Amino acid sequence: MIDCLVVGGGPAGVTAAIYLARFHLTVRVVDAGQSRVTWIPRTRNHAGYPGGIAGTELLERMREQAREFGIEVEHGLVEQLEQVEGGFSARLATGDTITGASVLLATGVVNNGPPISPELHDLAMARGLIRYCPICDGYEITDKHIGVIGNRTHGFKEAVFLRTYTREVTLIAPDQDLELSDTEHATLAELGIEAVGGPCASLRIEGEQIVAPTPKGDLRFDSIYPALGSVIRSELAMSLGAKGSSDGCLVVDDHQRTSVPGLYAAGDVVKGLDQISHAMGEGGVAATTLRNDLAERRALWR
Ligand SMILES: Cc1cc2nc3c(=O)[nH]c(=O)nc-3n(C[C@H](O)[C@H](O)[C@H](O)COP(=O)(O)OP(=O)(O)OC[C@H]3O[C@@H](n4cnc5c(N)ncnc54)[C@H](O)[C@@H]3O)c2cc1C
Repeated sequence: MIDCLVVGGGPAGVTAAIYLARFHLTVRVVDAGQSRVTWIPRTRNHAGYPGGIAGTELLERMREQAREFGIEVEHGLVEQLEQVEGGFSARLATGDTITGASVLLATGVVNNGPPISPELHDLAMARGLIRYCPICDGYEITDKHIGVIGNRTHGFKEAVFLRTYTREVTLIAPDQDLELSDTEHATLAELGIEAVGGPCASLRIEGEQIVAPTPKGDLRFDSIYPALGSVIRSELAMSLGAKGSSDGCLVVDDHQRTSVPGLYAAGDVVKGLDQISHAMGEGGVAATTLRNDLAERRALWR
């Protein structure tokens, strides 16, 4: 039985693994290879990288640092987690099992995408025509012509947030209706945000712009932000009865402990700010708590 299994090899998981290895604990990291960091063409708000850095390069640097302490991120999918005597047993898609005294979940989230073919989606992302994170890159669309595909309060809030960067914001319903309250409609009108009913058909790229076909015609934008929610990868913890928020994120205490003893969580899968720096910070806190809890359990100082 190892000291800790880290599920997820993004910024939260790799940061935690570096700390754990440097605490002289035995640790393995299993990762399914879909870190949201790899979606980032160039992050410019992560401190320490003047001029920004590509997400793939940033993740590779973190993993290179982990290798210095003997951690090699293993490609794999953890399909099931069970509590066993003294810890947890994780079953991988290959059928292999890993047992650990503690488990740290750093499994992140997956954004729901807009209607567009996967190839065009990736091209549009690389060119900044599709963007997912206004906090991360709203700065880059200052004074540009922006579309938001979304409805209800989530779509509304994203459009209003982006309005602080540019006057040219259009909110488009993915399906039929925007499903907004009268007050929300009034606020959009007051801010000069155009509200367009759906359905929004498959997006396409035309020259330097991205085109959203709507019942109102083809609408052209410099960038589109899908505000279509995300899938929270909290299912392993939930299956053990861990406490979750109404939107499916894991609820942890101030030290990243879930409600299941020995099970910790860090990064986007936890309710909080979905940012690299935050994920790394939570990874460090989780690893240190885990180390101290393990020391208590085993009286390591004796
Ligand atoms: C387009 C885009 C741009 C962004 N730009 C920025 C930016 O500029 N600045 C910024 O700070 N943040 C940015 N973010 C957010 C940032 O990417 C995330 O906050 C960060 O990646 C969270 O790290 P994490 O380790 O929690 O999760 P992730 O990086 O998503 O890693 C989670 C990993 O866990 C794996 N996993 C999930 N379930 C399992 C399982 N059962 N078994 C094994 N592995 C599993 C996944 O495959 C994935 O590799 C951006 C996000 C997107 C989508």
